[in-house]
Amino acid sequence: MARVKSILQRLEVRPAGRLSLCSHKKSHAIRKGEPRFVVRAPGPAAGEKGYCAACAIQMIDKAQADLATLKGELPD
Ligand SMILES: [Zn+2]
Repeated sequence: MARVKSILQRLEVRPAGRLSLCSHKKSHAIRKGEPRFVVRAPGPAAGEKGYCAACAIQMIDKAQADLATLKGELPD
């Protein structure tokens, strides 16, 4: 059977290498060593955006809800 294709963007959580700011809210600082949720845009020359843990959890919760809605529109 063919491998199931991933529909997610390239996502990962990794420790911040230095002090950085959350891409969702600039007032959210991510200190060196704290987890940073990294979203890389598709494509070869794509940049990446980093988010603090609080924003990342909200984004992942929304993604899960959106996926559940889409799944609900399909037959079992
Ligand atoms: Zn944030």
